[in-house]
Amino acid sequence: MSDLDYLGRHDTRLEFQRVVNAARFIDQSGALPKLAALRAKMRAGRGAGGRPGSVTDRAILVVLFLLATEHEAMHLTLATHTVRRRLDAASLRYLELHRFDELSEVQVYHRLARALQTLIAPCDPFRGPRRKRLTFAEYEQLVNSRDIEAVERLNDVLHEIVNDLVFSSANADGGQWIAQTDGNFAFDGTLIKAGGGRGTDKKFGRYVSSEPDASIYFRDGDHSGTDISAGKKKFAKHAFGFELTLATMTDNFRVGRDGEVHQQEMPHVVVGIGWDGASRAPGRNAIRALKSVPAHGLPVNLGLGDRAYYSGAKTEHFHVFASAMGFKPVTEYRVDQLGKQDDYRGALQVDGWWYCSTMPKNLISATKDYKDGLIDKKTRNKRVEARRKYAAIRKSRPDSEGVTRWSHPVNLGHRCNPDRKDADLFCTQKTISIPLAAGLKHAQEFQFESPEWKAAYNLRTTVEQANGGLKRGSTHNLGEKEKRRLRGRTAQFVLAALVVMARNIELLRLARRKQEDVEFAKSVARKKELRKSMPYNSARMNDDEREEIEKAMAART
Ligand SMILES: [Zn+2]
Repeated sequence: MSDLDYLGRHDTRLEFQRVVNAARFIDQSGALPKLAALRAKMRAGRGAGGRPGSVTDRAILVVLFLLATEHEAMHLTLATHTVRRRLDAASLRYLELHRFDELSEVQVYHRLARALQTLIAPCDPFRGPRRKRLTFAEYEQLVNSRDIEAVERLNDVLHEIVNDLVFSSANADGGQWIAQTDGNFAFDGTLIKAGGGRGTDKKFGRYVSSEPDASIYFRDGDHSGTDISAGKKKFAKHAFGFELTLATMTDNFRVGRDGEVHQQEMPHVVVGIGWDGASRAPGRNAIRALKSVPAHGLPVNLGLGDRAYYSGAKTEHFHVFASAMGFKPVTEYRVDQLGKQDDYRGALQVDGWWYCSTMPKNLISATKDYKDGLIDKKTRNKRVEARRKYAAIRKSRPDSEGVTRWSHPVNLGHRCNPDRKDADLFCTQKTISIPLAAGLKHAQEFQFESPEWKAAYNLRTTVEQANGGLKRGSTHNLGEKEKRRLRGRTAQFVLAALVVMARNIELLRLARRKQEDVEFAKSVARKKELRKSMPYNSARMNDDEREEIEKAMAART
């Protein structure tokens, strides 16, 4: 024996039980039959059946998922090593890889590589060459050859399959946590850097990036960089890659009849993800991630998103779908969106809520006046509180058409005279039906800046924690493109999903340990208190820096 033996990082065997447990999440997801159906459909079109791969979808997914659970790079060389050196005979049989005993390393590598291609091909909406850089003309031709509707349809199916995988991990530990959710989900996009970041070949103008379906990312209001004026670009972080949109389960949250907020801590697992080139269509990507919630039978309640979504996205891309799924918006506004936003038959929409149109001007502009530095925080809070007197009372949730019923505030006395000349339906009739289109973009579940709104919006930090956790260099390191060297937008999506799954399982293991070990739970709670004063979002930016940047950005809009 040499003194080098047993010191390699990958010299340990994987226990059979570990393989079985990893496979369970793939098997229970329901993704495999959907993949098989897609492949059958693709082959049916071509007549002759493809060669049956010698590595199944299941086996390649399980092996890559095992690497993800170890925070390892998901490279085919490591997958090859795992199959040849780290799995025992029982595991190989369990994954139908037992015939690989006599194969050389190179042969195993090629079979795994082919298995991955076979896995991706039927569900890849963005097919194209992966091994060379295309010229501009070639890329243009490729994009033009894509049938946009077919791409969209397949992209939906791809998201469904990937989110089946993600959900099976969120549903771990017997589904005990998922079963307890009261349906509050936060969502946000995060940049996942891609290889091929050299981007376009400016010098000779001949080639596009070797990862042409990725794109430049700007971190600002709507992630697109479009509202960044020249000279202010230093405020935008930009990089080349994909945008991963996460939908995370937040703590349970309920406002009692007394106005008191009741909260129950939950593990913040990711239940759905969306994938796109960076900075393309945040609204659509959020919908792709959120669809996983009703698709897996979860209750739908609050939908917590920042300005990139409710304030920035087009209503026909985002709000209409979010509302149809039943998500109740909790969000914030760009400074130019504060104050009066819409009106309907005598009802004024101010900061997302309906009010009697006799509400005084200084109450209407309270949040804007604060952002403009005209009043202090205390005055703003007082005025926001004073709005309650003028606030409409919600009588019904949206019906199948999205229509809601609202009744006029009572006890307004002489402030609202229904016999006045300009009184519209809301003040005379007292209860009105408001169609979906009126106020849809800026609607809020709670009165903006009220204590219950603040408590609810605070739940959104869970999605930032998920971003941070996935990108933590010491563990999942999803931000590091070297850990995912496969080319292709869809391959990268599947690898990202496996990392999300690995993190979900770690979160649920942590939750279980907290249930079983009171001392441990206490120490975690203490650390959480400490962390509140720590830098924001995986130590890149703290709250003050963020506020300063937001102020500067808001000042320009
Ligand atoms: Zn009125």
